[in-house]
Amino acid sequence: MTDITKLTLAETLNGLKNKQFSATELTKAYIESMEANRDLNAYVLETPDYALKQAENSDKHYADGTNRDLEGIPLGIKDLFCTKDIRSTACSHILDGFVPQYESTVTSHLFNDGAVCLGKLNMDEFAMGGSNETSFYGPVVNPWQRERRLVPGGSSGGSAAAVAANICVAATGTDTGGSIRQPAAFCGVTGIKPTYGRCSRYGIMAFASSLDQAGPIAKDVRDCAILLKSMAGYDAKDSTSVNKEVPDFVAALGQSVRGLKVGVPAEYRPEGLSNEIASYWDKGIEILRQAGAEIINISLPHTKYALPTYYIIAPAEASSNLARYDGLRYGLRINGDHLDNMYINSRTEGFGKEVKRRIMIGTYVLSAGYYDAYYLKAQKVRRLIQNDFINAFKQCDVILTPTSPTAAFPIGDKSMQENPINMWLNDVFTVSVSLAGLPAMSLPIGLSKDGLPLGLQLIGKVFDEETIFKAANVLEQEAKFERLK
Ligand code: GLN
Repeated sequence: MTDITKLTLAETLNGLKNKQFSATELTKAYIESMEANRDLNAYVLETPDYALKQAENSDKHYADGTNRDLEGIPLGIKDLFCTKDIRSTACSHILDGFVPQYESTVTSHLFNDGAVCLGKLNMDEFAMGGSNETSFYGPVVNPWQRERRLVPGGSSGGSAAAVAANICVAATGTDTGGSIRQPAAFCGVTGIKPTYGRCSRYGIMAFASSLDQAGPIAKDVRDCAILLKSMAGYDAKDSTSVNKEVPDFVAALGQSVRGLKVGVPAEYRPEGLSNEIASYWDKGIEILRQAGAEIINISLPHTKYALPTYYIIAPAEASSNLARYDGLRYGLRINGDHLDNMYINSRTEGFGKEVKRRIMIGTYVLSAGYYDAYYLKAQKVRRLIQNDFINAFKQCDVILTPTSPTAAFPIGDKSMQENPINMWLNDVFTVSVSLAGLPAMSLPIGLSKDGLPLGLQLIGKVFDEETIFKAANVLEQEAKFERLK
């Protein structure tokens, strides 16, 4: 029976509908898988009793024919999402024991559609990181080549690892500068960051509010399409949520890419890009060309400014968002002899090194005298980066690039630990998209010479996730990537 954890979401739904297994049997299989894979450290909280209760309810819905779109599907939820009555900590010590009284909009959509919650997934503290090593709960092990103890990517590292290792059917993720796409690439799974405003941010702990977006990480393109449909939609509780109809993303699958104009940006092939990554990118280009797409060379001239721009804007917003963790209202409190010292002690103890680094950078770039030099300038460059895409999309319908300049690296990698800039450089292909608010997907294209997954990124126009799904489906069919069994 444990084999059912290897099915995709679409296959699992069929199995449930055809009564091949019940939601309870399915959930039990995943609970066993969670137990068997604890060495990966993908979950920071398992909620088996809650999951079984939901599954029992799903079985009633199947029995009386009132089953909803995701009825009985066991999901893992990134710990950045507030889940009502279930501990939610953003994997930070400062939120120790925090149990929200409300549900995030995205997770409430999923649960209202019948999904089952297996537990909360590990992540970089407050989603700040690219390797899942900044979590208060320790690093996650990439399920590929476990003995090598590689990172799963980050910040949604627990989500990507859990999907790859079949410890949930699919997972929620969030992406501020690449946190859905890069871990998906490192773990050989598929993830999409939708257009900014497509999914509500309500109830997701804020990192950088002008960049944060939720999205699914799943076993394949179809599963992402099914989940995004449920997660997306206008929400009056998030003022940046956009009131736009959510299309049926599944309908885009199987459509032809004949005549589709696929942009290939010169700036994403910097000197020193590994041959391996470059040749898989060429393979992706060739697949789309063979399927009838037209390949267009494009330029995104401000690409080289994207990383510095992101690493000014994201910390600036983070420093402001994280001011609310003062030891009074949520989680951890370390007393002091007066109020100021209580704040200082709580924040000193509660935040990890990377979060503190970002709060300091953010406070610095927002302070009088530096605001104009850094923050305002970064906002102007952000507009130029956005304009690059607006111009490029006059020539093409979708853009194809690698997701990340490397495959998964070892936990504790020296060069990353000693110089945080090296870690930040890993985001070189993902942050521009976030600054421009565009939708983008990562899907696996093949294995590196030492057997690790590599991903390609498809970037779409604003609110045109459908073209991404259409092109991704063609790439997936031809790439024939074999998921971890
Ligand atoms: N790696 C990037 C960072 O550290 C992106 C994180 C994210 O998307 N949440 O900020």
